[in-house]
Amino acid sequence: MNYILGIDLGTTNSCVSIFENQSPVIVPNKEGSRITPSVIGFTEKKEILVGHIARRQAITNPRNTVFGIKRLMGRKFDSPEVKTMLKTLPYHVVRAENGDAWVEIMDKRYSPQEISALILKDLKENAEQYTGTEIKQAIITVPAYFNDAQRQATKDAGTIAGLEVLRIINEPTAAALSYDMGNLRGKVAVYDLGGGTFDISVLNIEEGVYEVLSTSGDTFLGGDDFDRRIIEWIVQRFMDETKIDLTEDKMALQRLKEAAEKAKCELSSVMETEINLPFIAADSSGPKHFIHTLTRAEFTSLVSDLVDRTLPPCEEAIRMAGLEKEQIDHVLLVGGQSRTPLVVEKVREFFGKEPRDDVNPDEVVGIGAVMQGSILSGEVKDIVLLDITPLSLGVETKGGLFVKLIERNSTIPTKASQIFTTVVDNQKKVEVHVLQGESELCENNFSLARFELIDIPPAPKGAPRIEVIFEIDSNGIVNVSAVDQDSGKSQSIRIRPTSGLTEKEIQSIIDRAAARKEEELRIRALVVARNNLEGLLATTERSFTEHGKKIPSDFTDAMRNAIEKGKEAMDSNEIEILKEAYDELQKVSRKLGEILLYGTTMGD
Ligand code: AMP
Repeated sequence: MNYILGIDLGTTNSCVSIFENQSPVIVPNKEGSRITPSVIGFTEKKEILVGHIARRQAITNPRNTVFGIKRLMGRKFDSPEVKTMLKTLPYHVVRAENGDAWVEIMDKRYSPQEISALILKDLKENAEQYTGTEIKQAIITVPAYFNDAQRQATKDAGTIAGLEVLRIINEPTAAALSYDMGNLRGKVAVYDLGGGTFDISVLNIEEGVYEVLSTSGDTFLGGDDFDRRIIEWIVQRFMDETKIDLTEDKMALQRLKEAAEKAKCELSSVMETEINLPFIAADSSGPKHFIHTLTRAEFTSLVSDLVDRTLPPCEEAIRMAGLEKEQIDHVLLVGGQSRTPLVVEKVREFFGKEPRDDVNPDEVVGIGAVMQGSILSGEVKDIVLLDITPLSLGVETKGGLFVKLIERNSTIPTKASQIFTTVVDNQKKVEVHVLQGESELCENNFSLARFELIDIPPAPKGAPRIEVIFEIDSNGIVNVSAVDQDSGKSQSIRIRPTSGLTEKEIQSIIDRAAARKEEELRIRALVVARNNLEGLLATTERSFTEHGKKIPSDFTDAMRNAIEKGKEAMDSNEIEILKEAYDELQKVSRKLGEILLYGTTMGD
């Protein structure tokens, strides 16, 4: 039997499934649990622990325990996401390695790919033990907003773990696939509240085609925040009673975190729970204990605003999908934190319909991943997957203007091309500068890569036809190539963006671009006017030099003046001045043309 693993490689927990006897099956880990915490622990004895066992030793070995490595995948050390992560996770050390964010454990540095590979390897081994066969292939899921670097890093992690990653698929797509054995249809909202992140996606599913229409969310909102609210509640109560600040004791904080999470999970099924933390602190009078009951009502008031924070992104995603709330046919609950009754209630109220949670929210993505595997292997037929690109992609042109080749929210896989040319005579090479973003101006977009197409045969400017082709494959990975159509010379690049983008960053790019639209269009018009003037100046000056002798002396001054005025105008930032200079120059260059053609002017 040739198994393909379906892997949900999560920020907090991971899950692996296989397709067996015509249906997806979650593979339990060595401890019998269906989900494995995405936690790695390194011990003094050089052992590497994965999952629950790693999480359990985190209290005594905090610096050598890695949580939430997914947040570092494909990210630069100085990216906002990493900075925020450093503030929220006081455990392992994160270092810059060639600009990328790596973790340092016992003086050794590990890339996020290596750490993720340890989790993947563990999941792979569990599945191998379960099936009794070696397994080499996998489908891995990623958030829909993951950019190329993050997808590539995930794929690389799979390779390091000894897996051939057949596809990287979007988590919401996987969630939808896991419903009704791939037979869910209509407009589907996937509400995914996990341990560290919130994602909302709107999909359109018809005739076996899955299309992600939009995505939104909050990369720093999840179950951990719910836990933190309970922790704060405990700390405050303890402070009132004993005047001892538990936040100053890291070990106590870890115990609080575990107790808070346990209480939160219990409150999903019972109305009250006891939080019992014996010997949590001590002072001169002896050891101190914390024993209190937390009711669901109290918990609700502690976290209600967190749940509310998920609703504006829902509005946003629906709007971006071009839909009204009423048009959503199904709402799917994904992520362990969506089990909290208040979440279900608010989602129900917001969408005006009962959200579906009949597939276990912790397992739904892993099951969908293996469904995709079964589609690829032919076990499940008639389903095609389509996803979207989160930001527009394009190239820089003269004057720093951005030309979009692929619009944001385009369905992938996709391909687009455009013909460009040279800007000076006998230009030997062109630089292709690939960017991502929504701004008209390159300086406001993200630079992804640069490459050169060299050895272009000599030709007047504007003559060469250089086709730039963008291709995004089904994993969302971008290939850009440039081909000189005359010589057939070509150059291409597989893009690894220089910085990772969070969903929030993507949204703020879109918002900023929208806010600056008017100003940017003005600048664009200015650049275009300046480029036009520059081009006309060059040709007019050349004609003037070449045909100087044939030009009547009374016209020479007019030409000189127009050229001079044109040169001065080049420094201006006023479009009117540029246009005026252009018009004047055009008039004289036309006249010159007539003189050269007819030996005289045809009059004004
Ligand atoms: P995920 O990232 O989907 O694995 O979700 C993990 C988050 O779900 C963690 O913050 C868990 O504490 C939370 N979670 C798991 N089970 C429950 C539950 N029964 N009730 C509330 N939250 C839960």
